[in-house]
Amino acid sequence: MCRPNTKYPDWDSPEDCARVFSYVAEDNYLAHSIREIEKTILRKHSINYHILIFKQGRDIPFKVFFRKNSCEIRIQDIEISSIISVRLRLAHEIGHLIYNIDLLPNSEKIDALNRRGTASLEEELFAWIFAFEMIKEKSGQYHDDMYKDYQFTPSELKKTIAALTSDIPELNAALNKRIRLAEAQA
Ligand SMILES: [Zn+2]
Repeated sequence: MCRPNTKYPDWDSPEDCARVFSYVAEDNYLAHSIREIEKTILRKHSINYHILIFKQGRDIPFKVFFRKNSCEIRIQDIEISSIISVRLRLAHEIGHLIYNIDLLPNSEKIDALNRRGTASLEEELFAWIFAFEMIKEKSGQYHDDMYKDYQFTPSELKKTIAALTSDIPELNAALNKRIRLAEAQA
């Protein structure tokens, strides 16, 4: 579903307002979990925090940009073609936010996060395991057939994560080990 062309409704017309706001933007993935995380940040740090998702056509230097009151997650257009990789990529970037959640009240540390080149292996591992578990849990929550596009098996998730991290063999190996361990304990 896409947003209608009208950017703002006629505020005097309840029909128009309902029509405009009943549409859900295509990039509104994982909306309920995102609201829950924002609420948690409000409780934890008293910050009215917003997680904003953007679709972007061109290559970008970083996937998530942190601010004091928000973080912008940018997903490339080419990734949108596969629902499983969009959901995993988005959950992964949210995993970075969760990993750094204690830094949010500190502007200097947030700036340092944006300036750094790449995250540590430990952080990447955290963010990918978070993504795997998050999308696995979400897949289990979609029972209705109309949501079958959002249901993925653990092995589909593992395969997609392996493809998304194939350029970092060290990470890939650590992920495989960790996911295997989690499965053995399940
Ligand atoms: Zn990452």
